[in-house]
Amino acid sequence: MRNVELAVIGAGPGGYQAALLAAASGIETLLIEKQYLGGVCLNWGCIPTKYFLNQSEKYLQIKKSRNFGLKENSLNLDYKLLKKEKDLLVKSLRDGIKFLLDKRGVDLIFKEAEVLSSSRILIKDGDSSEEIEAGNIIVATGSRPKPLKGIEFDNKRAFSSDTILDLDYIPKSITIIGAGVIGVEFASHFSRLGSEVSLIEAMDSILPNVERELSKVIESRLIKQGVKMYSSSEVVDLKKREESIELNLSSGDRLSSQIVLVAASREPNVEVLDNTGVDLKNKFVTVRSNTESSLKNLYAIGDLIGGSMLAHSASYGAHVAVSNIAGIKKELDYSSIPNCIYTDPEIAYIGLKEREAKERGFKVKIAKFPFKALGKARAVSKTEGFVKIIADESSKVILGAGLAGSSVTELITELTMAIKFKIPYSELIDVVHPHPTLSEAIGEALAILNDKAIHYI
Ligand code: FAD
Repeated sequence: MRNVELAVIGAGPGGYQAALLAAASGIETLLIEKQYLGGVCLNWGCIPTKYFLNQSEKYLQIKKSRNFGLKENSLNLDYKLLKKEKDLLVKSLRDGIKFLLDKRGVDLIFKEAEVLSSSRILIKDGDSSEEIEAGNIIVATGSRPKPLKGIEFDNKRAFSSDTILDLDYIPKSITIIGAGVIGVEFASHFSRLGSEVSLIEAMDSILPNVERELSKVIESRLIKQGVKMYSSSEVVDLKKREESIELNLSSGDRLSSQIVLVAASREPNVEVLDNTGVDLKNKFVTVRSNTESSLKNLYAIGDLIGGSMLAHSASYGAHVAVSNIAGIKKELDYSSIPNCIYTDPEIAYIGLKEREAKERGFKVKIAKFPFKALGKARAVSKTEGFVKIIADESSKVILGAGLAGSSVTELITELTMAIKFKIPYSELIDVVHPHPTLSEAIGEALAILNDKAIHYI
């Protein structure tokens, strides 16, 4: 039987980065992946969606540039080509990961794994199989789209967030079920390209996990782009026709569109641990703060443990797990993980929301600075949105932040650092922001917190 110091299962952002980090620390590492390097993030998530969102944003900008003499009817988008370019981009990034793994000396097996115990793994290959003995195991098998009862993904009329990325035409009309981040990003993308988009959400507003102040900004943009919203609505009945798909909603509305995208929720790929008896909660693996599961030396990270199902949470989990395996104590703390939504305008938020901070009894102080009061935002016509900081007046610590506007997914990092390291806003006031930049909005919000605002009264 083959023996390794560390076996990592799953090569998404959690798994492949765990393997690279471990190998860099001198740990003999085996990485087992059943499909593609990069996992959901690279192949069906972060990267392809941001590629498409960037292209459709450019398309809309060019379309709106008729004032500069461009004729709308001269714009003919080759979506097949766009999809091909997306595939090339993903492939080149996969090759990049392979290069890094090789360089670091990570041993790689492209097969399906099954964990037998906290130190043994079965590698399955058709009828044959091989057992591996490992000193430690990190399981990072991620998650998959959860189908809705009664809606089978046939990839002709009904698509998942994975298969919609292989579409090589712009649908005339699309119904998106689920207005969480994934649903809203796709609604943004297809409406920019001219599809008639209907967005269905069971809760009473889109992006139910986001402060209403923020989600309203993107809601009004989507409505402007023609997206029809159906909140507090669930699909009660669905009929697939040759050319369309028809849905009846609990609200009484009846919709018909060319295709449907189900983006309602995701479920963990936990079957890999079926034979271990490891502790689970709602199918997600429960872990201690060091990312170790209920079984010694068996670690779990990323989407598989739920909580924060984001690529950077998975890679942060990799950092924590590998550090602990290497003997450096680290604790997983999801309280300062930034959340980003790549619509236009973008949304980014972190930490406590205003309501949560008040419920927890903090002496809450709010600072809100609108981009329209900023020179750079005016100069580049990016005036929509605001920076909102939620702080505790007693300790002067920043508890949370919510940003809507251009490039806020980049700007949030400054506040992430402030929250992570509990830097009081009375000290942050001395941080100089370059002029003219959108980052000045954060400086202005900090000035408001310190009762030193001069540009906004
Ligand atoms: P995954 O990326 O899911 O990787 C798990 C890997 O394990 C897969 O490669 C799988 O093949 C492999 N595997 C599973 N079972 C086995 C087995 N038994 N044996 C061997 N291998 C196995 N997050 C962000 O932070 N930013 C974004 O912009 C963003 N956009 C997204 C857009 C979409 C449409 C979706 C669906 C997700 C998006 N996410 C985004 C979420 C992000 O993709 C995930 O949080 C992230 O990929 C989770 O990483 P992971 O390593 O836990 O698992």
